[in-house]
Amino acid sequence: MITLRCLVLCGCFGLIFCLDIKFKHHSQAELEEALVNIVEACPNITRVYQLENPSVLGTPLWVLEMSDNPGVHEPTEPEFKYTANIHGNEVVGRELILHLAAYLCEEYQAGNKDIRALIDSTRIHLLPTANPDGYAAAAVNGPKGEWLEGRSNANGVDLNRDFPDLNQLAYEEGNSVTKNSYNKMLQVANQFAQMQPETLSLVTWIFDNPFVLSGSLHGGDLVVNYPYDESRSGKPSEEYTASPDDETFKQLALAYASNHRQMMNVARSACELNGVNFAKQGGITNGADWYSVRGGMQDFNYLASNALELTMELGCRKFPEEKELKRYWDDNKEALLNFMWQAHIGVKGLVYDLITGEPISNAVIVVRNITNGKDERLNHNITSTQYGDYFRLLSQGKYEIYVEAPGYIPQVEVVTVKAQRANRNEPPVEPVLVTFAMIPRQIDQTAYLENLSADRAAADDEQDYSDLEGDREALPKGRQEDDDVRNVMDLLKNSPRHGVVPLSQEMNVSPANDEEAVKEILKMLEESGYPSMNTVSEEKEQKSVKKEKGNNEKKIPTLAEILPKMKTRKS
Ligand SMILES: [Zn+2]
Repeated sequence: MITLRCLVLCGCFGLIFCLDIKFKHHSQAELEEALVNIVEACPNITRVYQLENPSVLGTPLWVLEMSDNPGVHEPTEPEFKYTANIHGNEVVGRELILHLAAYLCEEYQAGNKDIRALIDSTRIHLLPTANPDGYAAAAVNGPKGEWLEGRSNANGVDLNRDFPDLNQLAYEEGNSVTKNSYNKMLQVANQFAQMQPETLSLVTWIFDNPFVLSGSLHGGDLVVNYPYDESRSGKPSEEYTASPDDETFKQLALAYASNHRQMMNVARSACELNGVNFAKQGGITNGADWYSVRGGMQDFNYLASNALELTMELGCRKFPEEKELKRYWDDNKEALLNFMWQAHIGVKGLVYDLITGEPISNAVIVVRNITNGKDERLNHNITSTQYGDYFRLLSQGKYEIYVEAPGYIPQVEVVTVKAQRANRNEPPVEPVLVTFAMIPRQIDQTAYLENLSADRAAADDEQDYSDLEGDREALPKGRQEDDDVRNVMDLLKNSPRHGVVPLSQEMNVSPANDEEAVKEILKMLEESGYPSMNTVSEEKEQKSVKKEKGNNEKKIPTLAEILPKMKTRKS
C-alpha cells in the first residue's frame, strides 16, 4: 500500500522509493526488511553494520548508521546512538527507531532543512533491538503476555544488569578518575564478569566508537531517567545520587521530556497505582532516586566512555497493542529529534601538536564551572578521541576548559555556553569550537630540522655560519629558526610549568599565569615563522578529514556484504 505522504513525495520530487513502515510489531525478518528498504531509499546517508557478537540464539544485532559520510568519523562531528529493546518485552522503542530512521531518510531526501543540518553534522547510530531473543519470546503472547515475559535474553539474564559495575569504584574515588583509568579497572572487572554475548557486543560498541550522547529506549513508565542509576549507599530506592554532570543531565532529560506530547502533562495519571506521577517533577527523574540499578548500561556509558546516556521510559505499556503505535510515534517524534540535536551542546574542538600538526588522542579535558562566581571542578574528565577531537557536553554557563596531555604544556580557555533552543522551531545554537594547539614541553630539534625545506637545508650546508653565532639578523632564515628553536627550548626549561606536574597541582596554578606562559611561547613561535594557530587549525582539520576518509575507505563493508539478500541499486 502506498501512503498519501509517499505519493506526494514521489510526485513532487520524482523519487523512485516509497518507504512505508507500518504501525505494527515487526518480527526480526520484517525488521531486517525495513532496514534494507531504508538503506535502498537513502544509500548516500546510510550504512548497516552488525555488532561483534550475535545474540545467544544467533541473531545479528543490526545497527543502522545515518550520516552524510556513513562509515566515517568526521573530526568535530559528534556521534550519537539510540539503543532500543534491551529488555525484550519493551518494544515501543524498537518500532520508533524504524519510524525515526524512515522519517530521517524521507525528510533528508525531501530537503527538510533541520533534518539535513542534523544528518550533515552528526553521525547517528540506531540499534533497533539489543535483545532479539527476548523480543521473540515476548512476541509469542504479545500485548497479552506477563509483565516480565521476554525481558531477559535466552539465558535468562537481564542485560541491563549485566554491565560491569563501575559505580562503586567511582564513589570510592570521588569520581576524580578519567575514562582511561576506568578502562584499567574494567580489565579487573572483566575477570569476574561473565558477560552475556549481547552485553559484550554493547560494551565493545561503546568502546570502539567515540559516542558523545545516547538514549536507551525502554517502556513500563513515562519518564526520562538520568545517572546515577545506582545509589551511593546501596539503598534500593529514593536516594538521589547526583553525578558530577547532574546539571547537564537534567538539561538533557528536559530536552526530551519538554518535547514529548505527554511527559510533562500533569493532568495525566501515574502509570502504576500509587506509583510516582513523574509529570509532577517535569517528566524526569534521577535513576537512583526512583530505584537503584546495579550493572546498568546507562551508568556504564558515563563511567567507561565519553558518552552521556539517558534512559527514556516511553509509556505505561511495555508491549502495547498495534493500534497504539501511531500515537506513540506522534508523542515521541519531536522529542526523539530534539534529543539528537543535544549532541551539539557544550564545547568541542581539536587537540593537536602545534609543531607536527598531528592529532593528540587521550588528552584529558578538565572542566571547572565558573558560572556567576562559582568555582566548581566537575569531577568527570573526558578525553580526546583517537582523531584528536573532543566533545564536552555542558549545560548553559561559563567554564574553564583545561587540556592536558603527557609531554605537552597544559592549556586553558574560558568559554561561555549559551542556553539551548527549547525546540526545533527555533534556530540551532552555534556550537562553541575551541581548538587546542599543544606546545611540546621539549621540542625535538632533529625532527624539526628534518622538516625544513630541502632547498634551504642544502643551501645552509654549503656555508659555515659559526662566526655569526648570536647575531640573529645576520643569519639566513633557516638558521634564524634553529636559533629560535633553541630559545623556545630554553624558555620551556625555565617555565614554571616545565616537568611533569600532577593534575591536582595543575589545577592550583592560576589560569592567568598559565595563559601568560602559553601566550609568550606562542608569540615566540609565531615570530620565528611557525604557521599561525589559525592556519594550522584549518589545514589540520582538512588534512584529518581527508586522512580519515582515506583510512576508512577499505574498512567499510558494502551493504551487499552485510545483508546478502539486499539488491544494490543506484539512487
Ligand atoms: Zn526496561
